[in-house]
Amino acid sequence: APALYLEKVERRYDQAGAPLDILRGADFGLWAGQSAALIAPSGAGKSTLLHIAGLLERPDAGEVYISGVPTVAMADESRTALRRSEIGFVYQFHHLLPEFSALENIMLPQMIAGHSRKEARERATQLLDYLGLSARADHRPAELSGGEQQRVAIARAVANGPGLLLADEPTGNLDPKTAHHVFEALDAIVRATGLATLIATHNMELADRMDRRITLRDGLLVELP
Ligand code: ADP
Ligand code: ADP
Repeated sequence: APALYLEKVERRYDQAGAPLDILRGADFGLWAGQSAALIAPSGAGKSTLLHIAGLLERPDAGEVYISGVPTVAMADESRTALRRSEIGFVYQFHHLLPEFSALENIMLPQMIAGHSRKEARERATQLLDYLGLSARADHRPAELSGGEQQRVAIARAVANGPGLLLADEPTGNLDPKTAHHVFEALDAIVRATGLATLIATHNMELADRMDRRITLRDGLLVELP
């Protein structure tokens, strides 16, 4: 089964009494090892789509399959459990915990998932090494550059070995050179882990590195050449 499969997904918001149809039956499948860039203007519904794919929000109609498992009718607790084990998130801002070191920020989600401190430390150390951040392991987020913070956030997102990585404008807050380093890191992680990755981005250099490019048009997901 695909890592993510959206089937006829609909989402409508009520805006001051008037319905606003954001998704009108969007279909989309993403296989393990595949990366896709979601490119669309602001307000088109990228965040909405990522929230629905990430089980943070339910669609009004349609189905969301995570590794073949239908999720819409699941109880909240099951959706949360599935999200924690199967889905990693990276946002525009890093959301790292300020009082913890880079290493600890990557260890924490693993320990919450039940891994031992030793296992979590080994995996976090390996990920930092992989991202060229070994020398920064004991630094707190405020002591890291914007690009380093975002790379730590990527390592945290994949620490528990999810099958799906969702990113919402992960380089939106960075200058072009720093953004370049961040997506090199993202690219390396994706290739090493065989994750399925869906990234909303305005960064065309990042988009060009992905296997697929998609956009939102009239509430549908459309493949770009
Ligand atoms: P994007 O991420 O592409 O900028 P969003 O998914 O954030 O787009 O938003 C799509 C549209 O839906 C926007 O017009 C936005 O104003 C509207 N919208 C988003 N969330 C809500 C909400 N909770 N209630 C009402 N309207 C919303
Ligand atoms: P971003 O897409 O940058 O993450 P948000 O998702 O917070 O930003 O909001 C995107 C758009 O959705 C904005 O235009 C915002 O006004 C609108 N929006 C978000 N939440 C609501 C809401 N609860 N009601 C109405 N509009 C909303």
